[in-house]
Amino acid sequence: MVTLDPCSRLKTIYCQLVPSIIQDAEDNKYINTRPVIESGLEKLEDKSYQLGQKCSNCGNCGKCEAETIEDFFFDTKERLDGIWAKQLSNKLHEVINEPLLVC
Ligand SMILES: [Zn+2]
Repeated sequence: MVTLDPCSRLKTIYCQLVPSIIQDAEDNKYINTRPVIESGLEKLEDKSYQLGQKCSNCGNCGKCEAETIEDFFFDTKERLDGIWAKQLSNKLHEVINEPLLVC
């Protein structure tokens, strides 16, 4: 079994796992399961801090500082909020544009 060093694992989180979560949200895959995405993201964030602590010796990789991790996840959450807000307003728009029933 190949064990990746903390830096490489963080890179996987930044460059593969989180972008695929954002993609899922954009694809509207989990519109009704937003809590699933949010808790998944929370777990990744916790994991990232753990990895960052393990890697704090490497110093100059630029990925492992708690501040970098915090900024990254803050941006990710803002982006997801934006996606969801847009989807919600599209949804409202659809409802508003539905023809009224005439009795
Ligand atoms: Zn590192």
